[in-house]
Amino acid sequence: MPREDYIVTIGLEVHCQIDTQSKMFCACRTGFGAEPNTNVCPVCLGLPGALPVLNKKAIEQTILAGLLFNCETPELSKWDRKNYFYPDMPKNYQISQFDLPLCDGGEVPLYPQNYPKETQGEILNPGKAVKLTRIHLEEDVAKSTHLANSSIIDYNRAGTPLMELVSDPDIDTPEEAFAYVKTVQQILIYGGISTADMEKGQLRCDVNVSLRPHGQEELGEKVELKNLNSTSAVRHSLHYEIARQTEELDADIAQIQSTRRWDDDMGVTQLMRTKEDAHDYRYFPDPDLLPVQSGIIRDRMRQFVTERPHEIAARFTGDMGLSDYDSAVLTADKNLAEYFEAATKSSKAPPKKTANWVINTLLAHLNENNLSPADCPVAPEKLAATVNLVEAGLVSNNQAKEVFEALWQTPEKDPAAIAKELGYEPADTGAIDVIIDEVIAANPDKVAEIQGGNEKLLNFLTGQVMKASQGKANPKLVTESLRGKLL
Ligand code: ZN
Ligand code: MN
Repeated sequence: MPREDYIVTIGLEVHCQIDTQSKMFCACRTGFGAEPNTNVCPVCLGLPGALPVLNKKAIEQTILAGLLFNCETPELSKWDRKNYFYPDMPKNYQISQFDLPLCDGGEVPLYPQNYPKETQGEILNPGKAVKLTRIHLEEDVAKSTHLANSSIIDYNRAGTPLMELVSDPDIDTPEEAFAYVKTVQQILIYGGISTADMEKGQLRCDVNVSLRPHGQEELGEKVELKNLNSTSAVRHSLHYEIARQTEELDADIAQIQSTRRWDDDMGVTQLMRTKEDAHDYRYFPDPDLLPVQSGIIRDRMRQFVTERPHEIAARFTGDMGLSDYDSAVLTADKNLAEYFEAATKSSKAPPKKTANWVINTLLAHLNENNLSPADCPVAPEKLAATVNLVEAGLVSNNQAKEVFEALWQTPEKDPAAIAKELGYEPADTGAIDVIIDEVIAANPDKVAEIQGGNEKLLNFLTGQVMKASQGKANPKLVTESLRGKLL
């Protein structure tokens, strides 16, 4: 049977480190890049007798994430031990949450701009929101590196607050899975909950995928792909896995519940273990930790719920009249959205014009120089001042581009001063006036036509004046002057 004859069901588990100063159950520093095994203590090394102490900030931020994803937070939440034996977890259990997580339900809207670029024209379910099962809080494990004949381990990461977002099996395609991860990442960054940098392992995905023929009610046996560390790995591993399962089901090979590894270099999945050797985690309540009155925290955290990217985008299209595309580009990055808002505030031009400058000019410069909006050298007020020069008729749009070029090189300068330095100086209108009169005198036929009603030819004469002034005149003012003299 071709692939279309099977229903694909995908669910995702996203692990995301929460930005906190200290670890989940001890005072050790969190963070990426420190000397291995320097940010450790008896608690996060799992030494006997060491007792965990809860990180308040991590609990608050998880509940805040829940509010951003429209989850419910129950009145009470508790901690459980998830038992397994592995060097990355020296206590031999992970403190996690089993039946009373901090957040229940909720949903993740799939933003159209977060689908893979080349598929954005053909989104299967526009406006879809993926249902969440829960968000719980746990501790990250140590980082192990396997060498040829040995393994090394760094416990700096052990105990870092880690939230886990579990989706319902509500995702239909690899492209939706891709958009899901990107949107989760974007909303967590906007909420100030996590930097969510996948390259630094701050956000990691496990994917479940099963196939079943149309008409079959119950889900097929699921395959889990572990520890995917890029959105493209999520997408490509799913495509591979769907094709592999289709082929096997076609050949009457029954699927068994199993865990597979994605090899990014080879572009294939490989079997790690099947259900038979799956862990039995033997969850039980952690006797070292009291339950949390999460309802009280939830009520207190409501005041910190910020605007989500789609709400900001709606404001940009609604109040400011931007296109959906412009709003999506501007809200793709939190810092860029903030930059645009600051620029519009001090700009006298309509928001659409400021948006064009940010998207076409500023973003191009950032991309060329491999800079993120957070590192933009030009202050939003300076960009606005450049746009204002055009708005006031002091320079033309093209001249303003030159002003911006110079501003990019010397961002401390004032755009008006730069315009003056470049000779875009409207003060010497006397000289320009002489040129205008010369051009009128040299083009009697065009003048006659203009006076006969062909006002379009004003542009031609303006062009002549611009040429004669070597681009120093302001075309808008020249046209006005010509109109005054001729009509
Ligand atoms: Zn510690
Ligand atoms: Mn987990």
